[in-house]
Amino acid sequence: MKIATLPDGSPEIFRTLQGEGPSIGCPAVFIRLSLCNLHCSWCDTPYTWNWEGSPWEHQDGIKFSKNSHLQELTPITLSEKLRSFLHLGDRLVITGGEPLLQQKEIIEMLNELREEQSKEPLVEVETNGTQRPLPELDAQVSQFNVSPKLANSNNAADLRIRRNAFEFFAKSPKAFFKFVVTSEKDVDEILTLQEDFDIPATRILLMPEGRTPSAIAERRLQLVDLCLEHGFRLTDRLHVQIWGDERGR
Ligand code: SF4
Repeated sequence: MKIATLPDGSPEIFRTLQGEGPSIGCPAVFIRLSLCNLHCSWCDTPYTWNWEGSPWEHQDGIKFSKNSHLQELTPITLSEKLRSFLHLGDRLVITGGEPLLQQKEIIEMLNELREEQSKEPLVEVETNGTQRPLPELDAQVSQFNVSPKLANSNNAADLRIRRNAFEFFAKSPKAFFKFVVTSEKDVDEILTLQEDFDIPATRILLMPEGRTPSAIAERRLQLVDLCLEHGFRLTDRLHVQIWGDERGR
């Protein structure tokens, strides 16, 4: 599997509190897979896809060496590593990049992991919502944290909204839609998607874009009234509040 590499050379697996979304604050082990099919200009993990020599534009203007930031490990090796991080009751959060680009490998990893029943975790998958999960993966996942990308991400509309996948998540009670909001005008797009795909407001969360506590605080305040008006939930970015932009948190 293709997984992000931390600065010390280890695969990006870490234990922390879930920082965003419906299970914010819950103890969790994160595994960050590399590669993404989108290229958001404000992405906070561009080291999973914005390789040297690629044409993608990112607000930081930094390119990353693929050799230094991506490593390949087998599903069996990763399941062994996860076991050493997981405590009883932890969630396992599979994130990226876009993890659903590696679904077959994730299924294999989870099958291995579940053989040790005493540490069987609840599994969350964080996705941009463009890839439809395979039934074998869906059966193993407790929660999908779907973060569809809006026009503010600078991805073409036909790449970021894929009807087949979006419909799957809209119908799944396990899927929560977490929208990254950069300004109030983003809400019109969210309301259009809500209507088109018939998503209950209770499964929609607004999250302020920002990689510093001050940027988040400024935008968060604007979102309160929008949540109250439309019945949406507000989510913070707890990890940014506590650790800023630090890796492995
Ligand atoms: Fe980054 Fe997520 Fe956008 Fe991919 S979909 S570029 S990982 S923010």
